[in-house]
Amino acid sequence: MSEERSKQLFAKALERIPGGVNSPVRAFWAVGRQPFFVERAQGPWIIDVDGNKYLDYVCSWGPGILGHSHPEVIEAVQKVCEKGLTFGAPTAGEVELAELICTCVPDVEMVRLVSSGTEAVMSAVRVARGFTGREKIIKFSGNYHGHSDGLLVKAGSGFMTHSVPDSAGVPAGYAASTLTAVYNDEKSVRRLMEENRGQVAAVVVEPVAANMGVVPPKAGFLEFLRRITEEEGALLIFDEVITGFRLALGGATQYTGVHADLHTFGKIVGGGMPLAAYGGRRDIMACVAPLGPVYQAGTLSGNPVAVTAGITTLKILMDDQGIYERIDRRACRLAEAFLKEGLAVNRAGSLLSAFFVPGWDVEQTDAVYAGERRENGPFVKNYEDACGCDRQAFADYFNRMLERGIYVAPSQFEAMFVSDAHSDGLIQETCRKIGESVRQGAGKPPVEKFSD
Ligand SMILES: *Cc1c(COP(=O)(O)O)cnc(C)c1O
Repeated sequence: MSEERSKQLFAKALERIPGGVNSPVRAFWAVGRQPFFVERAQGPWIIDVDGNKYLDYVCSWGPGILGHSHPEVIEAVQKVCEKGLTFGAPTAGEVELAELICTCVPDVEMVRLVSSGTEAVMSAVRVARGFTGREKIIKFSGNYHGHSDGLLVKAGSGFMTHSVPDSAGVPAGYAASTLTAVYNDEKSVRRLMEENRGQVAAVVVEPVAANMGVVPPKAGFLEFLRRITEEEGALLIFDEVITGFRLALGGATQYTGVHADLHTFGKIVGGGMPLAAYGGRRDIMACVAPLGPVYQAGTLSGNPVAVTAGITTLKILMDDQGIYERIDRRACRLAEAFLKEGLAVNRAGSLLSAFFVPGWDVEQTDAVYAGERRENGPFVKNYEDACGCDRQAFADYFNRMLERGIYVAPSQFEAMFVSDAHSDGLIQETCRKIGESVRQGAGKPPVEKFSD
């Protein structure tokens, strides 16, 4: 595996870009190596500048549900580019994408397009504050909602990977209005609500957490959040930047049956381009400027090229609903392969994480949590559990997988994403390589990479 060109590029990048990367987890620090630089990607494959080819289970951290460079998406984007890249004035595509989002997620009656998930959640929180006239919000440790000041408290994957609890540079005042509860722990939410009665604007939650590894909500947890927010006059915000159009076409609400007041989308909704969205109840969204008093704007919001990628992707998903059954089934097979190696596995739909829990005893847990193990493993149920994982064991596994031509996220605290381009045959080969990579004594040199 030659890494010469990637190494050269990284050396130059370190001179001009902090850490050599434009988003921290890309730096591969947690797995003790340097990142590869990508040349191109096609279907389930990603090819680096040295010609190495990897089967990609990162999928750009979520957007790639169809695999890379889907021909229909690429063609639509190329065509729309010829008309111009940005106008700063309304286009038909924005209306079409808004209608598609509202059709897929019926709780979203009105929607505003923005350019990143960070912006979407930041704006949804502002709207919740404007609507309720309250200042505080409740979030969960280990849930990530982008890097806006008020939400960078106990914020999951990037921080966990780099062992930094919270970001420097966030004024104490911002953090003070962000209350942090424990995921899957109803008591912690009730306590914060009682201590701050009449002051909580919203509870913001990843309905299936996927930024401390995948941690599904335990039975009744989201229903509880729905109930207590209603009782306390607060809004419930589902941050669906990962789960939207991923767990189902209708996202977490379709998957869990629980309704939220506001939803945020990103990743898949932009079809690989910088686009995100927030929306929800009409009376709440009526607060957004110019209709209402909550200001939110963007020079490139609803960018026509990004909108086209989003529309094309959503239409493909709508026309082929068998896709969710396929990717879920394939993720299930990967989960089985990890379970066979004795790892703790959490899965929700096509999102999964295998946790390297020290002293983990499958047999014992089987007895205690019989029946619950596969879909909703309770062994890693919150941030604290996730923090207990063996990071070195994960790093060893990551490196063995990479040597075998498989790219998984370079952190214990990220999801493994399955796309429709991961064929049954590739999943089968992956399961075999999971066995080789996890098993004790797997230090043996890799026998072969993928033939094709
Ligand atoms: C990725 C992510 C964000 C931030 O989105 P960006 O586009 O990276 O700003 C917010 N919330 C969740 C749940 C995410 O996974």
